[in-house]
Amino acid sequence: MSSVTVNNRRFNLYLKHDEIIASIDKMAAKMNEDLKDKNPLFIVVLNGAFVFASELITRFEGDCDVTFVRFASYEGTESTNSVRELMNLNIDVEDRVVVFIEDIIDTGLTMLMAKDKLKAAGAREVLISTLLYKPKAFKHNYFIHYVGIEIPNDFIIGFGLDFDGKGRNLRDIYKIAE
Ligand code: 5GP
Repeated sequence: MSSVTVNNRRFNLYLKHDEIIASIDKMAAKMNEDLKDKNPLFIVVLNGAFVFASELITRFEGDCDVTFVRFASYEGTESTNSVRELMNLNIDVEDRVVVFIEDIIDTGLTMLMAKDKLKAAGAREVLISTLLYKPKAFKHNYFIHYVGIEIPNDFIIGFGLDFDGKGRNLRDIYKIAE
């Protein structure tokens, strides 16, 4: 499909499934090199990262644990300037290497807050992986260890990402039409 309509808005095809998977292959190869023997704790940021996380984690070849958190900073197609935590972390992170698995980093506020929280809880190392990254929207200066694909500052959906709840099931990624 070269375009889709979701909640009455039109979106155009932007990244095909194969291209997304190829970028996840690369990220996983690097993660295996870096973390295979470190027994990382993967923290999947719900809801949007669930598709990416399943592809990434099933390519990881070492021991690992997996848990889930949920934040909200988006309403409709706009980022708000505050992040609400909707689900608490219920696992001990003391002295662990933790790796956030995020669908997309936009302003960077969500991961800034999450990273600091994990450090305060005693994590040895906090790494960040994101399938998509909007460098022009990023407002902070921390390092993002694993980046799949850099994209322009447009609202996108598909491969787990939604527009007001819809569109998560799209195999490809679509960009909002002007
Ligand atoms: P940040 O805190 O980096 O500004 O925003 C991160 C969160 O905003 C992501 O986890 C995601 O839920 C949401 N987000 C940012 N950009 C987009 C986008 O283009 N499409 C969708 N569907 N969500 C986005």
